[in-house]
Amino acid sequence: MRMIGLIIILFFGCGGDLDKIKITKGGIIFPSYYDNFDPDLHIAIYEYEAHSKDQGKKFNARELDDASIVQNVVVYDQNGSIMPNVIGACRKSSSGRRVIEVKAGFFYGQLAINGKALVFHELAHCLQDRPHNNSVTNGCRSIMSSVIPSSSSLSSCWNYMIYELFNPGASLVDSHYIKQPNGDLVCIVRNK
Ligand SMILES: [Zn+2]
Repeated sequence: MRMIGLIIILFFGCGGDLDKIKITKGGIIFPSYYDNFDPDLHIAIYEYEAHSKDQGKKFNARELDDASIVQNVVVYDQNGSIMPNVIGACRKSSSGRRVIEVKAGFFYGQLAINGKALVFHELAHCLQDRPHNNSVTNGCRSIMSSVIPSSSSLSSCWNYMIYELFNPGASLVDSHYIKQPNGDLVCIVRNK
């Protein structure tokens, strides 16, 4: 493993990007701008960037100043009262600073897919300027739904949700799903 790490360092070193990469125990190389983010959010942010790239979109967490897991996401309403039940937030300051926060109790207390959906949701607010979308398409909600869908709904709709995340307003048929003669929507994986 040490040898592999060395090879990777040398490989990237040639490009002069040595200071921009970070090798973790899991073998994933995170860019140095991840240093500002809570390590427990690294994988979700990395996957968001990878999905964005897959969809031909250039949304990158480099634009994000901070990503943290907090005990309470403190957001005030118009009357100056703290809003209850907030599990995540994207904060944009007038200076242009952009930060996401997710609530520890939700992030650690649910299945991994729920936590990931929450991170993707907040990233899309902060990086894509996406608003909420509460429409339902063939039983699937957008990841930008104002309430994070249940884990079973996330599991069955995940491919659609990922597609819709980067292609707002997409229909199920636009996504990876293929409509069958009996009306079923089927998601497939093919060898290239
Ligand atoms: Zn939201």
